[in-house]
Amino acid sequence: MPNRAANNLQAALDAHGRLTIDRDCVGCGYNVRGLDHDGQCPECGMAVARSVHGDELRFADPQWLAVVCGGLRWIRITLASALIAFLLLMVGSTVTTLIPAASVDSFSTFSLIVAVIGLLISLVLPVTLAWGVWRLCRQEPKQLSREPSLSWRNVTRFVTPVAIALCVGYTASPATATLMTMIWWIVTMLVLGVAAVALLSYLAALARRIPAPDQGQRLRRLRRETVLVLGCVLLINAVELAVWVGVVQHIPPSSASWINRYHGNFESCMNAIIAIGTLYLAIAYPIAVNVTARKIDAARRAGLELTGG
Ligand SMILES: [Zn+2]
Repeated sequence: MPNRAANNLQAALDAHGRLTIDRDCVGCGYNVRGLDHDGQCPECGMAVARSVHGDELRFADPQWLAVVCGGLRWIRITLASALIAFLLLMVGSTVTTLIPAASVDSFSTFSLIVAVIGLLISLVLPVTLAWGVWRLCRQEPKQLSREPSLSWRNVTRFVTPVAIALCVGYTASPATATLMTMIWWIVTMLVLGVAAVALLSYLAALARRIPAPDQGQRLRRLRRETVLVLGCVLLINAVELAVWVGVVQHIPPSSASWINRYHGNFESCMNAIIAIGTLYLAIAYPIAVNVTARKIDAARRAGLELTGG
């Protein structure tokens, strides 16, 4: 790959290292043909090399890439904080069950910790996650004219805040199952699934532009697995909804028991699959985001070493 790129570059340069092909500057669109490969754009000062190497991320606009990496940092902070909060809650509840109920002091301390962590999870983390995704999906300057409006980047950018708002709303709603909360849950899962798939697709598109093709493959595999788990969740919720709305009521009592038994088996089977799938995604998703973020950040730092960075 580097050899082929070097050969292509050699063919595009004259004996003095000047560009012999038409290329638009990634910063301003000025044609950099005839300029020194190691020089800078006379219009905006961008390194000519950035415009020569096409799509590769380390040659992309450094300001845009800094915003993208900043967004990924917020997402990673959110994921790490969520993990720490979850572990604290687990340890806290275990300790509380081990300590005799008589020690009121430790119990009130634990309640306070739970309250603080609850506040963090319900108020702070949704905001940091939305902010991170918003910055990650900032439009690339040179993409302005080429990108279709329904791109994975745009879908991720605008659907994620909606998905987060639906999740927060569902968590805050009363726990009793009504038709409204069931439909809310299905809509939330659908929107969340679209956001998750779009995020993986956009990260895969970015990974295609760093010298790590296997990372793109890994992200696309995770995307398939996300769709699979989500399909199970939606299927069981659709069945739940159908049963709840009144399929059972319209069937004679004798067959109703059969339906109920069959439905019960189906439900426990699906729930087991969903539990395993969700656990897998809860581990695989942060790892995939983390690894991709680190590779993109390495590309950003490599880009800074170029002139004009
Ligand atoms: Zn320029």
